Amino acid sequence: MTKIQNYINGKYQNPIADGWLDNYCPATGEVYGQIPDSSKEDVELAVTAAKEAFGGWSNTPIDDRSKILIKIADLIEENLEQFAEAESKDNGKPISLALSVDIPRAASNFRFFGNAITQFASESHESVGQNAINYTLRKPIGVVGCISPWNLPLYLFTWKIAPAIAAGNCVVAKPSEVTPMTAYLLGDICTKAGLPKGVLNIVHGLGTTTGQAIVEHPHIKAISFTGGTKTGAHIAKVAAPMFKKLSLELGGKNPNIIFADCDYDEMLKTTVRSSFANQGQICLCGSRIFVEKSIYEKFKTDFIKEVSKLKVSYPSDVKANLGALVSKEQSQKVLDYVEIAKNEGGKILFGGEKAEIVGFENGYYMQPTIIEVDSNKCRINQEEVFGPVVTLMSFDSEEEVLKMANDVKYGLSATLWTNDLKRTMRMTNQLETGIVWVNTWMMRDLRTPFGGVKASGVGREGGFEALRFFTEPKNVCIKY
Ligand code: NAD
Repeated sequence: MTKIQNYINGKYQNPIADGWLDNYCPATGEVYGQIPDSSKEDVELAVTAAKEAFGGWSNTPIDDRSKILIKIADLIEENLEQFAEAESKDNGKPISLALSVDIPRAASNFRFFGNAITQFASESHESVGQNAINYTLRKPIGVVGCISPWNLPLYLFTWKIAPAIAAGNCVVAKPSEVTPMTAYLLGDICTKAGLPKGVLNIVHGLGTTTGQAIVEHPHIKAISFTGGTKTGAHIAKVAAPMFKKLSLELGGKNPNIIFADCDYDEMLKTTVRSSFANQGQICLCGSRIFVEKSIYEKFKTDFIKEVSKLKVSYPSDVKANLGALVSKEQSQKVLDYVEIAKNEGGKILFGGEKAEIVGFENGYYMQPTIIEVDSNKCRINQEEVFGPVVTLMSFDSEEEVLKMANDVKYGLSATLWTNDLKRTMRMTNQLETGIVWVNTWMMRDLRTPFGGVKASGVGREGGFEALRFFTEPKNVCIKY
């Protein structure tokens, strides 16, 4: 039984009230560890440590901060296998994915922001004719809170922490209680890399208690949150009267729009991935597939054929394409949505049921599922499922598909498959999302702004946007 601890003021420690939560292994459905059920008092300890560390860290020269971040990246890479095994076991994702995507990206987050901070500059404005100059100082905020979800555990946790500490803040962070393991391992790496105590404090526990205490804490000046839209709305409500700075990365219901003139083979291969990577548990997955009528039947046949080749297996199977869903609750939610879709007249073209894996009968496995629908208004096309479920629909015209793509409360990302440049320009301009991929999916450049519109969030992460979020601009005007 693995028992993990909070990482506060550079030390691992038990929760003050000695409360613990069970941690489940999605592959087997068994409890395999315990994590702190941290209270307000634990968050208080973390905030105190962060406040004490702030003076020193915010005055540490940029080059020194940068070196520490890059060292953290190196150490994550040196421990790639240990991190990947922990991530795969905790989350249920295939080990191949944790080794090739999740952990390398966590290292990249630290390396990227370690370098980005050395290039971060602010503006100056000469007030010509008034003998004055204005310049902008970008000051670290102080103590900030980072709260992350379970789907890409270390990847998204570090996507917040790295820019926050690069910019000179001290952090109180909480990973999802469903996937706490790699965040736990990160504490030791930070100590070894020479990150001063108190700069990063990791507190484990439930959202409604530990997370809530972070959001409510008067000395935490900014919250960077990734998770569900409902949780984001609640956090906004709690934080608003305290005028906290907020960055909210929330849910999605992303359209994948396929025109007949696309590069078909590339589109087919990528669509399998954009539908079912990480068991469909990526906020960017294209869960609503719209196909131009002239190729609809061909696509349907080919897509089903390709999806039927995917192997659902236990996470440590190197040949697994899909592993286990993250939890019993999530798995039940996905199965419930399949029933909702059926009751609405959706036709199951593939999957739709639990997957039985020999030797892992109590794990949370699900077949990749394709559902044909005849209206974008149905619940399965309007609500986020966050699992290995996609819907298929045909369309006749550009106007029709654009209307359907935008007719949803979310606006995170969209994928467009076409070789028509004019159509590309028209569609990318009009799609109501924060991100549009054309003839590709989830190709990430860490310098670009990342985030959504509508119910998918407020604010942007990535590149200098993240460094702007984690700093407070101060205008200085000097008359000479
Ligand atoms: P969630 O909202 O349930 O939890 C996210 C985090 O918030 C967890 O750490 C949780 O403990 C914490 N939390 C819950 N209640 C809280 C409260 N009252 N106060 C403070 N913290 C609280 O989300 P989840 O189920 O972990 O993740 C899945 C969701 O995340 C999906 O909706 C998905 O689309 C979204 N997501 C969005 C992005 C993005 O970049 N937009 C990326 C990944 C996941």
